[in-house]
Amino acid sequence: MTRQLETISEPSGVEPISDAEAERAFRTILKWIGEDADRDGLRETPNRLVRSFREYFSGYEEDPAQVLRKTFSEVEGYDEMIVLRGVTFESHCEHHLAPIIGRVWVGYIPHRRVVGISKLARLVEIFSKRLQIQERLTAQIANTIDDVLKPAGVAVVVKAAHHCMISRGVHKRGADLVTSRMLGVFRDQPATRSEFLSLVNADTTEQRV
Ligand SMILES: [Zn+2]
Repeated sequence: MTRQLETISEPSGVEPISDAEAERAFRTILKWIGEDADRDGLRETPNRLVRSFREYFSGYEEDPAQVLRKTFSEVEGYDEMIVLRGVTFESHCEHHLAPIIGRVWVGYIPHRRVVGISKLARLVEIFSKRLQIQERLTAQIANTIDDVLKPAGVAVVVKAAHHCMISRGVHKRGADLVTSRMLGVFRDQPATRSEFLSLVNADTTEQRV
């Protein structure tokens, strides 16, 4: 009966897992693949993995909306497109924990308020440092800008290589997945959308992701 009450007051997944526990789990996996987890080269590996995973998934600790809250309103009525081009990111797919390596193009047309350009890069960083699928990463970046800045429009294009299809599965190299989300004037006005997309295409004909 008591246990039941505890279960209700502590929803599953909230209980923190210690670093030591995570290290033990990595050690188990090393043994599972047939390795001697105690040999010199591997002794520190579980600990290194814990530290690496902290970095890969540091995006859970931050509130992406908060990053965009500091805005500048003295923009002399600037209402043209602002584009941050080809921001690199590294993420991990939620199906295989395999790396997703790519670039993001973020454009918006402000309505009274703009943010420092580094904040847009920060937003990409926070969402990519979580388990992801590319479609959701794309939507989250666009939706957050839309929700917080309330601009006239937002456009986000993501191009990325998925290591879950390079180093496993179908084993295909050199293929990018391209996803986009267009909101406001980018959705409604073809000329605005194509101006943005021509910037994206100009960047990607010169260099691959
Ligand atoms: Zn995957």
